[in-house]
Amino acid sequence: MADFDEKDFNERDEEKKEIQDVNTDGEKKESDYEDVCFICRRPESKTGKMFKLPNHITVCNDCMHKTMDTVSQFDYQGMLNNPSFVDDLNKNMNNQGFPNIRFVNLTDLQGEGGIPNKQRVKKKKKGENAEPVLDIKNIPPPHKIKAQLDDYVIGQEHAKKVISVAVYNHYKRVATGTMDEIEIEKSNMLMIGPTGCGKTYLVKTLAKLLDVPLAIADATSLTEAGYIGDDIESVLSKLLAAAENDTEKAERGIVFIDEIDKIAKKKNTNSRDVSGESVQQGMLRLLEGAEVEVPVGANSKNAMVPLTTINTRNILFICGGAFPDLEEIVKQRLKKRTSIGFNAELKDKFDKEKNIISQVTVEDLKKFGMIPEFLGRLPVIYTLRALDKPMLVKILKEPKNAILKQYQKLLELDEVKLEFDDGALEAIAEKAMEKDTGARALRAIIEEFMLDIMYEIPKDDNIGRVTITREYIEGTGGPVIDIRSVGGENPDNLKLLEE
Ligand code: ADP
Repeated sequence: MADFDEKDFNERDEEKKEIQDVNTDGEKKESDYEDVCFICRRPESKTGKMFKLPNHITVCNDCMHKTMDTVSQFDYQGMLNNPSFVDDLNKNMNNQGFPNIRFVNLTDLQGEGGIPNKQRVKKKKKGENAEPVLDIKNIPPPHKIKAQLDDYVIGQEHAKKVISVAVYNHYKRVATGTMDEIEIEKSNMLMIGPTGCGKTYLVKTLAKLLDVPLAIADATSLTEAGYIGDDIESVLSKLLAAAENDTEKAERGIVFIDEIDKIAKKKNTNSRDVSGESVQQGMLRLLEGAEVEVPVGANSKNAMVPLTTINTRNILFICGGAFPDLEEIVKQRLKKRTSIGFNAELKDKFDKEKNIISQVTVEDLKKFGMIPEFLGRLPVIYTLRALDKPMLVKILKEPKNAILKQYQKLLELDEVKLEFDDGALEAIAEKAMEKDTGARALRAIIEEFMLDIMYEIPKDDNIGRVTITREYIEGTGGPVIDIRSVGGENPDNLKLLEE
């Protein structure tokens, strides 16, 4: 028994030591973060200097004073004059406790004052505010931005051009602040294009190239504050998280709001439109540039979450949506114009015309249900094309991180060469076109038939090359297998894969 106890004590000692190590390490790492008040949860930047209590608990000046006031108003004398209290006290003193009073062990609440790291704000570094965050010389000119995008995004030439210029102007504006009296307007954008044509991909690529934080939000999940769903400001929380809780970094980031067409004004409703028009209204402030209180590490404000202030003036907002019925609205407008006068006979010419959506105007978007104030804050509006077969084939093989290149690399590690003949690529593109989800379908289709290849090929060390054919994609034949030493076709392997 004595042995056991001794061991137990030793272990405890070691444990204690470990905890201390972690704490000192933790302190080192977290010196970049602001302290947060244990009681009101406001960060140091809001409350001023904090009182530091044992166990990493920090309390702000206000809360400390309130606590002191409450304590000083407490009637100890009256309590001690109360005979039943004194009775209880005497009884309990023997058990080393106070009547009706339970002591809270502060170490239970530890973990940096009960606040997880993701809810803490990084300190602003002194002196950095004065300098522009992005040096103007570091912003590549539009043609260079586009050239970089070309490596990843296939087609969509017009969109890439517009986005490059807008981004260039935006960050030039950010870098210089205001230019004399003329304040350059924000270049927030509205992207219109069918699903799977590369809207999100374009923005993601851009953010990666510029090395700025990016938040992607879905407009359908947003609702007016106070209703079920995410508050509009939650998009800024996401951005803050993407910037590792660094407010300054977040303030020059990009926010992409997808499915923006889903927050169009609802037609013929008498009830309050909490997820449509109200969301558009709520977003106006953010789009324009405002100081917004943002919960850190959570989607909505509540008493338990610290808040920080983000200025959206330099945040680039890009909205994207498919706007399914917009084409019809554009057609109607064009038809109306030509039904007057000599051109009346051309009325049905628009029905056949492709890419009619590129002629969209702000008026059409208003008709669709976007409110004028909202559109006014998105000065750059452009459309993306639906992807056709040749474009899909290119997407398969040309981008820097093309899906085929990824598979080729994987098999290369097994020293097997993977090739696709032209027929195979076309067959994959045709299958994807049938699904009508743009380039999104490509990966699913490829994964389906590459499974067998990836399973069977490593079985045989002799295989040196696999060529995927149209027949294999269409299920009427097998791939061509070349044996390393002979360099010819091996019927056995062929059969293996066909099975
Ligand atoms: P959406 O327009 O619906 O936002 P995405 O951008 O999410 O579509 O596209 C889905 C996927 O398809 C992307 O992850 C990307 O791999 C691929 N893709 C789509 N369009 C292109 C394109 N123009 N060039 C290269 N890849 C593309």
